[in-house]
Amino acid sequence: MHRFFAEKRAENLLYLAKEDIKHFKDVLRIKDDEEVEVYIDGAGYIAVLNSYTKDELSLKIISEIKEKYESELKISLFQSLVKSDKMDFIIQKAIEMGVYSIVPIETKRSIVKKKDIKDKKLERYKNIAKAAAMQSKREFIPSVSDAMKLSEAKEILDDFDLVLIAYEDELDNSIKNYDIKDKKNIAIVVGPEGGFDIGEIDELKKFGYKSISLGKRILRAETAPIALLTMLYYEFNGSGLL
Ligand code: SAM
Repeated sequence: MHRFFAEKRAENLLYLAKEDIKHFKDVLRIKDDEEVEVYIDGAGYIAVLNSYTKDELSLKIISEIKEKYESELKISLFQSLVKSDKMDFIIQKAIEMGVYSIVPIETKRSIVKKKDIKDKKLERYKNIAKAAAMQSKREFIPSVSDAMKLSEAKEILDDFDLVLIAYEDELDNSIKNYDIKDKKNIAIVVGPEGGFDIGEIDELKKFGYKSISLGKRILRAETAPIALLTMLYYEFNGSGLL
């Protein structure tokens, strides 16, 4: 069954965003009596088409979806800015994996800088996030926030139960040293193609954040977040479900 995110709800009607109407009608060619899943504010419903014009499409709620698709562990990915196609890939895959939010960060060796992330680029990231959330049956669209410098991100990192920095030169520490099942809210920080500057790692450590190894091989910037997310969800879920 196809899944959509509604933009607004009025009584038992759910309204799609204007940009999704074409996708609903012309790309997926959903029939008038075909049931679809629609999420709004984290709640899901089975719904069918109610009315349609090229500017507005409403769906009538038939029932509520009880099954949960989200992990109770919220992981936020603080991802150093990397080249455009790699960033697109990371956003798409991280959202398929279940990430709660993505914060693009400028680190010393980021080739792409905060100033390069103009409105159009951010909109592109958000569109990738939305498509990935629809495809992977997420219950909400994870946020992709404005790019910020690592120094700005440090302030936000304080709000998490655990902050793990994937650092290629870390030799000892790994996620095996943490009880992930105990955590609710984890931030992971991943470096750019050229890696972190040692000064950045030292600075983050002063705040009490930990660097971890992902193993002895050096992973590409776009592989590292996916590998780390896989490890964390595995540790948290155990059973492999949710
Ligand atoms: N230029 C660096 C080098 O050659 O040593 C490699 C950087 S790597 C391509 C990009 C980022 O992925 C790193 O900054 C780190 O966050 C993460 N990463 C890759 N391999 C890792 C590993 N084995 N352990 C921890 N983090 C890793």
